[in-house]
Amino acid sequence: MSQTILDHFYINGSWQPAETDTVQDIINPANGETIGRVSLGGQNDVDKAVAAASTAFQSFRKTSVDERLALLNSMLDIYRARYDDFVLAITHEMGAPISLSRDAQAYCGIEHLEATIKAVENFDFVESHENYALRHEPIGVCGLITPWNWPINQIVCKVAPALAAGCTMVLKPSEYAALSAQLFAEVIDAAGVPAGVFNMVFGDGVSVGAPLSSHPDVDMVSFTGSTAAGIAVAQAAAPTVKRVAQELGGKSPIVVADDVNLEQVIPECVSLCMDNTGQSCNAGTRLIVPAHLHDRIVELAVAAAESYAVGDPMNEDTQIGPLANVRQFEKVTSLLKQAEKEGLNPATRQIGSEKELENGFFVAPTIFAGLKNDQLIAREEVFGPVLAILPYQTIDEAISIANDTPYGLSAYVYAADEALAAQLAGDMRAGMVHVNGAPLSPDAPFGGYKQSGNGREWGRYGLHEFLEVKAVMATTKDSTE
Ligand code: NAD
Repeated sequence: MSQTILDHFYINGSWQPAETDTVQDIINPANGETIGRVSLGGQNDVDKAVAAASTAFQSFRKTSVDERLALLNSMLDIYRARYDDFVLAITHEMGAPISLSRDAQAYCGIEHLEATIKAVENFDFVESHENYALRHEPIGVCGLITPWNWPINQIVCKVAPALAAGCTMVLKPSEYAALSAQLFAEVIDAAGVPAGVFNMVFGDGVSVGAPLSSHPDVDMVSFTGSTAAGIAVAQAAAPTVKRVAQELGGKSPIVVADDVNLEQVIPECVSLCMDNTGQSCNAGTRLIVPAHLHDRIVELAVAAAESYAVGDPMNEDTQIGPLANVRQFEKVTSLLKQAEKEGLNPATRQIGSEKELENGFFVAPTIFAGLKNDQLIAREEVFGPVLAILPYQTIDEAISIANDTPYGLSAYVYAADEALAAQLAGDMRAGMVHVNGAPLSPDAPFGGYKQSGNGREWGRYGLHEFLEVKAVMATTKDSTE
């Protein structure tokens, strides 16, 4: 396979050479092979991109909603036409099983472009009130910083609403997911988005993320990633009082009541943790179960975990691919070693010595049973296929275990008794609650409580993130519109 060299950044409508010599290899996590190289930009590249976005903002902010809708629709058409390229790029760069890339990872691009279009079509950018009008105006130049785990999802959830709002932007995608980001910039270019509206600089957190966050000409940063990096972004942004929207980590609970059909519910709970090889911010990673059913639940959960096909992500049958990169592999394996040192033994068997897995970053689906909520695996965001099972005696104790975490992104509740299910949903301190397996909706706000962040993405709420609100008071109605 020929190598992909990404040494140009998309700035002011053209591909401009990186101003630094720093590069990072693009590694296929399934086999450790180098499949390309990406340049990591620096302050000069950021300055150029921000200057282009600032200039473009002067005219783009005045475009009509219809003009912006036409751009989004054009992006959607081109994205669809290049769909298979996205599917392959995502699997190659971060190891998502090819069926997951096709059905979910790449599909998120379509889903969120469509949800943004729908939100814009139904949004009143000017609201008339009795004595005043509210104008929802673009916030300005936005810095968009994204992770590698759902790479296109994260990019589209920021770029589409920012553009829909009339903002201009500089995207810094994850240095571990540059292939899909490159394709996305090509879509934007082919869609005829005016020069300077969308700019993209590859780099890591220190070289590009930090200068973007502190830049005086950036009005807002939308950040998705770890809580530690999100805090660093907010600190860097504070002296310029820019708005910072944070979408951060999670350690989401799954509360199971004792009246459910365990044979049906438990495998579903395991998949809430294991899908995408456990690398989803909203993964359900703490399974909180009635103590008297604990052993039966462990049996069912282990059987589900051990039934997953782990292997080459290019194989159509693979359900669990490798971890996305060496950094993540080292993080997960070091947490597992630490757990072992603390005397914790997984209930699942560990990965075999299959030849095809030898050079990749593979970790088997792993379950720890009978945990207490203060133990390492129950507290840390592992971000790998690792599930903690925690027993409870009373439903009040289950609620208290569920909420005993610094995070508050998602929660999952299972109860046949509808009143109990509704009570549990109300008691979860989380931005999103799924009752009895109900899936996410692209129109519903996605975001967290507590240290899972302060932003909301997707649909109408996602659009709001990129808008300022202006109150216009006037003595005649005409001058408010
Ligand atoms: P990360 O925090 O290491 O990196 C995320 C992005 O931030 C990357 O582009 C990185 O280069 C950049 N970055 C790192 N340090 C920075 C700094 N000091 N200043 C500016 N930018 C910086 O996270 P990751 O490993 O790429 O992704 C995994 C994390 O993302 C997990 O914690 C996961 O829960 C979280 N996540 C959250 C959501 C959500 O919507 N809440 C979605 C996906 C992932």
